Amino acid sequence: MTPSLNILITAGPTREMLDPVRFLSNVSTGHMGYAIARAAKNRQYQVTLISGPTALKPPKGIRFISIGNAWEMRKACRRVFPKQEALIMTAAVCDFTAPSTSLHKIRRVKTKKFILKQTPDIVAGLARSKGKRVIIGFCLETENWLENAKKKIRGKKLDGIVANYYSKTHVPFGDRKITTAFVDKKGNARILKNQSKTVIAGKLLGWLEELVKINSEKRSK
Ligand code: C5P
Repeated sequence: MTPSLNILITAGPTREMLDPVRFLSNVSTGHMGYAIARAAKNRQYQVTLISGPTALKPPKGIRFISIGNAWEMRKACRRVFPKQEALIMTAAVCDFTAPSTSLHKIRRVKTKKFILKQTPDIVAGLARSKGKRVIIGFCLETENWLENAKKKIRGKKLDGIVANYYSKTHVPFGDRKITTAFVDKKGNARILKNQSKTVIAGKLLGWLEELVKINSEKRSK
């Protein structure tokens, strides 16, 4: 029987504003996270979707929180996560931003160089006090995708990670079939070849339920 889980899903990119009209971001479309939110809703989970700017409509019957930058996403996640059993962090949080957002447009003639600073690592922060809650992260790599995924699962202390890769012949953005891998804490990788994001979302929730069961058994021993 499918357990009814309280689940938090993050999706889409974040936008780190340099000035009122310009930002740093990435090409994430949010399709994966929204597909997971739909699949979770279909399984009768209680779903909260925290999303950066996308062109997508949030699924009906879920709690939807819209955010702009990494700090807003972190604040929303910190508020919602304590009441969840699981977090699936598909969001493509932008890793860099300007030291501060300029009040006015940055003038090209005056500004020749930009020093960027890092945004906070949201999922790593949440994982530090996650208890028995399950956290699955995502990553998108351009080289050594499985090796880098294994490093990230250890570094960020996640229960699982979904590894994606980009190459000239494999562009994973948008609503299309992609090759992806579910990597667990032991470093085992289950590769899903050329699957739609809806199919990947269904299989991911199956895996999540296994991880929830493992974690709850561990704690009750
Ligand atoms: O960007 P990176 O490959 O490190 O992303 C791996 C995981 O970490 C993803 O689940 C992503 O949502 C999360 N992340 C985050 N905060 C960041 C960067 C990434 O939570 N600043």
